[in-house]
Amino acid sequence: MKIDILTIFPDFFRGPLDYGIIRRAKEAGLAEMNLHDLRAFAHDRHRTVDDRPFGGGEGMVLKPEPIFECIETLKVAPREDRRAAKQSVILLSAQGKRFNQAEAADLSGLDRIVLICGRYEGVDERVGQYLADRELSIGDYVLSGGELGAAVIVDTVTRLIPGAVGNEASTQQESFTLGKATEGNSSTCVSGGLLDYPHYTRPADFRGMPVPEVLFSGNHEEIRRWRRRTALEKTLRNRPDLLDGVDALVLVDVLPAPADGSTSAGTLRILKIRVEDLESGGPLTPAGLRANPAFDPHGMDPLAVLRRQGGP
Ligand code: SAH
Repeated sequence: MKIDILTIFPDFFRGPLDYGIIRRAKEAGLAEMNLHDLRAFAHDRHRTVDDRPFGGGEGMVLKPEPIFECIETLKVAPREDRRAAKQSVILLSAQGKRFNQAEAADLSGLDRIVLICGRYEGVDERVGQYLADRELSIGDYVLSGGELGAAVIVDTVTRLIPGAVGNEASTQQESFTLGKATEGNSSTCVSGGLLDYPHYTRPADFRGMPVPEVLFSGNHEEIRRWRRRTALEKTLRNRPDLLDGVDALVLVDVLPAPADGSTSAGTLRILKIRVEDLESGGPLTPAGLRANPAFDPHGMDPLAVLRRQGGP
């Protein structure tokens, strides 16, 4: 994959993309990364890349000319042909669609991505409107520039390129990934879009903090269930929002919320997840769950209950 990054601070990327999986992917020729200094495409003596906003208001805006001109030298496909050409030009923006693992997987299948890093108050809107084909945000907060966002995207996408990670199955089993279970590898389990399960290594007892017994049992089925249950518990505790996107999830015996209206503290005590049911029938959606005779929601919507328990 060819990756181009447009920035006014090319030196910013010395470091973040030079370690571990990303460095190895570059060395193995799986990913080629090129940095482009937008100031090289400014034509005045001061190499100006920003200007005041039309209509007034705070701060400065990155001008469109250096960005359009830089992209033109890169010979990327025209916007309408990019999908077919397996290319994408991405504008980093706090107003963009939120980047996630599914988007990373989509991008990892392309041959070329170009990332445009904004600065100041942002980038002239015509770049997003006419030049970029995606506008992506890495989260609901405002960064001072798109460089950190670009580094995040390059990292997440590069490690998904086939061959970048030694054991490909490992990127199929991570948090947020709707991966497939690996044949003959019953001790591990896919996250199914939930968070990853907890990992432990030696020592078995560290300063009186033990590793859960079940992991020494040698019983792969029991370990798989334990991992599934703890992944679910962690998801309910930290990211109940992810349950909306999860399909093969069966939660039974959801008890009503405590009468005192307490919320997050009781999450795991009042939710009993019958793991054995997770693996039985077909994929169960919230609607399927309601239709399940084993489910007694006490008149409540199962996901609403989960959300309330996991909420702040
Ligand atoms: N005025 C803008 C913020 C500009 S921050 C707003 O309120 O939405 C300057 C630049 O940082 C942006 O142009 C963008 O490239 C980058 N940036 C800021 N927050 C980001 C985020 N959450 N994700 C990706 N890029 C972001």
